Amino acid sequence: MVLRPPASALKFDLVTKCATTKARAATLHLPHGPVQLPMFMPVATQASLKGLTPKQLEDTSCRLCLNNTYHLGLKPGQQTLDAIGGAHKLQSWPHNILTDSGGFQMVSLLKLAQVTEEGVRFLSPHDGTPMLLTPEHSISLQNSIGSDIIMQLDDVIATTSPDHARIKEAMHRSIRWLDRCIAAHRNPSTQNLFCIIQGGLDLDLRAECTQQMVARDTPGIAIGGLSGGEAKDLYCKVVHTCTSLLPDLKPRYVMGVGYPEDILVSVALGADMFDCVWPTRTARFGNAITGTGTFNLRHAAYANDFRPVEEGCNCTCCRPESEGGLGITRAYIHHVAAKETAGAHLLSMHNVHHLLDLMRGAREAIVEQRYPAFLVDYFHGMYAGDKERYPGWAVDALRGVGVDLLAD
Ligand SMILES: [Zn+2]
Repeated sequence: MVLRPPASALKFDLVTKCATTKARAATLHLPHGPVQLPMFMPVATQASLKGLTPKQLEDTSCRLCLNNTYHLGLKPGQQTLDAIGGAHKLQSWPHNILTDSGGFQMVSLLKLAQVTEEGVRFLSPHDGTPMLLTPEHSISLQNSIGSDIIMQLDDVIATTSPDHARIKEAMHRSIRWLDRCIAAHRNPSTQNLFCIIQGGLDLDLRAECTQQMVARDTPGIAIGGLSGGEAKDLYCKVVHTCTSLLPDLKPRYVMGVGYPEDILVSVALGADMFDCVWPTRTARFGNAITGTGTFNLRHAAYANDFRPVEEGCNCTCCRPESEGGLGITRAYIHHVAAKETAGAHLLSMHNVHHLLDLMRGAREAIVEQRYPAFLVDYFHGMYAGDKERYPGWAVDALRGVGVDLLAD
C-alpha cells in the first residue's frame, strides 16, 4: 500500500532558535486560531477542566486544551457528537482542542485491557461486554469530536518495563498503527494527525522509530510513553535523541509532562508542547504552584496569611479586586480548601495560569536570546539560590546543551 503524505491543517512559523540550547520559539497556526510555542496544554477531562468553566479556562489565556477521547466516546458518545457538530460546540469552546487516541486511558483505567495487532481489547465499563478500540475507530471518534489536533493510536508500554522484546514489538506496532490511522483519517484538511514516537528508554529503538515516523510526514510529532516513573536523566536522553532527528519546521509534543522544571529542561532539549493533569489534580489537594516551589495551603501556617497565592501573579484568583480580579488570599483558600470545592477551583485557576505564564516567560526569553539566563534565574528562585539542592539530572541535561546552572 502506498500512503500519500497526509494533508496538513496547521502552519508552523519558526520565530527564533536559541543560540545556545535547542530551544525554539514558534507560532503554530491551528484551525481555531494561533498558539505560541513553547506551550503548556491543560487537560480538560469530560469536556470541562476540573473546577473551571470554559470561560474561566479562557481567562487563564489558554487557547489549546486537551480532551479525552475515551471519556467523550462514552459520554455523550459518537452519535451525539456527530449531531451537535463536535466537541467545540458541545462545550462552547471557540479555541483549539487536542484529543488523545483513547488507548492510554483504556490501558491505564481498565485493568483487563489487552493489546493485539487489531487494537486494544477491553470490557465495557458500563455492562462488561467485550469491546475493541482499533486505530480506525480511534480516528473515527476523533473525527467526530472535531479536535484541531488528533493523536494516533499507539501501543504504550511503561518505560520501566523490563520486557525489551515487548517494548520493541510495541514500537513497530505503533508504526503500523500510524499507517492505519493515516488511511482512516477523514478530515486531514481540518484536523492535524500527530504520530507518537515509542521505543521505551532504548535510544536505538527511539532513533529508529523517529526516522520511520518522520518519513510518514504527519503535521506534528509527539514523543510518547514517557513520564511513567523513569529516571529523569534517562527521560532527558530520550527527548534529546528524538529532537535531534526531527525536522525543524514541525511542532514537537512531549506527552504527559507538567512539572515546571521538567518542562523548562525539555524546552532546552528542543521540545515545544506539553500536557499534564498535575496542575489541576494537585490543586484538589490544596497545592499551589509558584516560582518558589509548590506549597500546601491546608497547612496551618496559612490560616492568617493574607497575601495572594503568589505575589505579583496576574491570574483571576490572585489579582486584586481593584484590578478586576478576585483578590483571594492564602488564608481564604486555607479556610475553604479542606471542605469546599471552591478552594480547588481557585487553585486550579492559579496553577494553570502559572504554567501558561511560565511558558510565556520562557518564550519571550528565547525570542530575546536570553533563555540560558532565564533557566539560571528560574532554578535560583526555585531553590532560593541553594545550588546543592538543584536536581542533578537537570544540571547534567542543561550542561549537555551549553547551560551551566552551577557556574558563578
Ligand atoms: Zn495566581
